[in-house]
Amino acid sequence: MDKLIIAIDGYAGTGKSSQAIRLAKKLNYTYIDTGAMYRAVTLYGLNQEPRGTIDLNLLNHSLNHINIHFEEVKKENQTFLNNKNVTKAIREPRVLKYVSKVAAEKAVRSFLTKKQQFLGKDKGVVIDGRDIGTVVFPLASCKFFLTADAEVRAKRRYLEQQKIGIKETFEDVLINITKRDNQDKSRTISPLKKAKDAIEIDVSALNIDEVFHILYDQVLDKLEPRI
Ligand code: C5P
Repeated sequence: MDKLIIAIDGYAGTGKSSQAIRLAKKLNYTYIDTGAMYRAVTLYGLNQEPRGTIDLNLLNHSLNHINIHFEEVKKENQTFLNNKNVTKAIREPRVLKYVSKVAAEKAVRSFLTKKQQFLGKDKGVVIDGRDIGTVVFPLASCKFFLTADAEVRAKRRYLEQQKIGIKETFEDVLINITKRDNQDKSRTISPLKKAKDAIEIDVSALNIDEVFHILYDQVLDKLEPRI
């Protein structure tokens, strides 16, 4: 059976990653978390600067020193930056504060886009992000675009962060999510936008299982077209 590239784009906090992980497990596909890659590059940039800021010029010139890979540890997808497990560190608010700025850099995008295309070259991948259906894999056979009200998304993120011990108020999460979306939508290179052929799903009023079944049904249609 032909393997697919499944692209899931959309706004922060719509549950793209959880859905992508579940789909990948169900189909026995590889999951690629492109947000984690942008976060890891941002963390690298923060570590270069002692004052907790980022020198974008320095970062752009250091990209070939950055190695990012994923490993499954205790059945969880973990992110490694130069062989160090940064899964928790890339979720910290200091990373979130800068990630959209870093993600707007041309050199960073072209560096990570190439890596993502390489990781998905053999197909059989579920890949989530902001520009997967438009730029990274414009020929992906299955494209989704997830949206939801900002408040719903902030609540999800807030609960996720609490679970892993990151302390941030709900108000701050909401401000950050809205700011990040605006930055992601308005950047010139590879902005966050729905691909023409993507299926848009507003998940505001749906639970995780309901969203999953919508996605999975569409994937099954691509795998075994009903006549
Ligand atoms: O998905 P996640 O919230 O981890 O993404 C973090 C940030 O990385 C986004 O807000 C966006 O700025 C950037 N990103 C991107 N393109 C992608 C994935 C993430 O610009 N494909």
